[in-house]
Amino acid sequence: MKLTIIGTGYVGLVSGTCFAEVGHQVVCVDNDAAKVKMLQAGGIPIYEPGLEEMVKKNVAAGRLSFTNSTAEGVEKSDIIFIAVPTPPQADGSVDLSFIERVARDIANSMTAYKIIVDKSTVPVKTGDKVAETIKRYCRTKVEFDVVSNPEFLREGFAVEDLMHPDRVVIGVRSPRPIEAMKEIYVPFKAPIIVTDINSAELIKHAANSFLALKISYINAIANICEAAGANVQEVANGIGLDERIGRRFLNAGIGFGGSCFPKDLSAFIKIAETIGYDFRLLKEVQRLNAEQMDRFVKKITETLWVLKDKKIGVLGLAFKQNTDDIRSSPAIDLCQRLLKEGATLRVHDPKAMDKAKAMLPNVTYVADMNDVAEGCDAIVVATEWDDFKKLDLDRAKDALTHPIMFDGRNLFDPAEMESRGWVYKSIGR
Ligand code: NAD
Repeated sequence: MKLTIIGTGYVGLVSGTCFAEVGHQVVCVDNDAAKVKMLQAGGIPIYEPGLEEMVKKNVAAGRLSFTNSTAEGVEKSDIIFIAVPTPPQADGSVDLSFIERVARDIANSMTAYKIIVDKSTVPVKTGDKVAETIKRYCRTKVEFDVVSNPEFLREGFAVEDLMHPDRVVIGVRSPRPIEAMKEIYVPFKAPIIVTDINSAELIKHAANSFLALKISYINAIANICEAAGANVQEVANGIGLDERIGRRFLNAGIGFGGSCFPKDLSAFIKIAETIGYDFRLLKEVQRLNAEQMDRFVKKITETLWVLKDKKIGVLGLAFKQNTDDIRSSPAIDLCQRLLKEGATLRVHDPKAMDKAKAMLPNVTYVADMNDVAEGCDAIVVATEWDDFKKLDLDRAKDALTHPIMFDGRNLFDPAEMESRGWVYKSIGR
């Protein structure tokens, strides 16, 4: 099938590439000229495991191309996906100006029936607004359908998630686009749920808010474990084996971040408020998440006392492992707090150092994780990269003035760390 994706970022580029991988003919559009130029020249603007090879393969096969012309994208395909940003505004509500802009651009270029599919995460009822906008701006009064098809990929596992989705949600206002939408997804062999548009839009916010809630729940349990002398990992295993609960998203840490959970949570609270429901449960999730970082910083200051003139080695800058994305990263937030207290930082991340440089200009970037501890007063683990489990602990111990580690992601075993002579502080253990 011929598909166009408008917005070639984490969602647009990866979904466009996966659509091409299963045989569809895909045009990816972006209004960032430098990004399109880079992609046309064979470069990949983001890091996702497996993505680079897949892009190259599909470009070479003639199934994937890039342009900055929305008109070209609209002309070449019958199905147009929207995957542009929906960032938060100061009051937590969603900035829908990118969606509105694209809806107008599509309308201006439409000369025949099109299915316009929203893949961006949007407030309930946005589909209606997109339909109204297209109707208003379309000069030739052609027929069209608006569909909601929320995306559930996890950064760091985006290719895997798109190739093997748990489910595909298709929200429609009329039966006409259903068969075409199903046909796109047949090769992915996933359960397809067809709903009305409002429900599809709500599914995305409800899913992300529930996952954020699960993280805050285990962080609250971690705090109880610390006070009671229990181990949160054992508690998580004990409750997670219950199929009704599940073990995933039960890893205690310094809180969730990234470009989705914080903004989607704020958005859902605001959406609920707009339709007359005070979502206090989710407000508490936000509060717990902020508190989790405060508690971790307090743990560091209680041990190191004064941070001014202390040198700290930080492992991790990305908001989670397997990505170079630092948007709303707890690790960056942590670094900024430590810098504010007067500490100097040596930092390492396997993929996110280039992107972090603009936000953290006054730190020392260290290419090898095993050099991070050099001359430091402590090491902090801020992102759960598997690589960090291979840290040369003896070398780090020798390099530190005193072997102290604050592990915000519970990567190491407390008993083993203590037996190796470390002062080791983790979360909920
Ligand atoms: P992104 O910032 O990585 O990519 C968006 C792209 O859209 C950018 O390349 C930008 O240049 C482009 N763009 C903006 N305006 C445009 C326009 N008028 N015409 C053409 N291109 C335009 O964002 P993302 O992370 O891919 O997120 C996109 C949407 O998907 C958001 O609503 C987000 O909430 C949602 N989402 C993201 C994830 C994720 O893990 N990143 C997962 C599921 C859903």
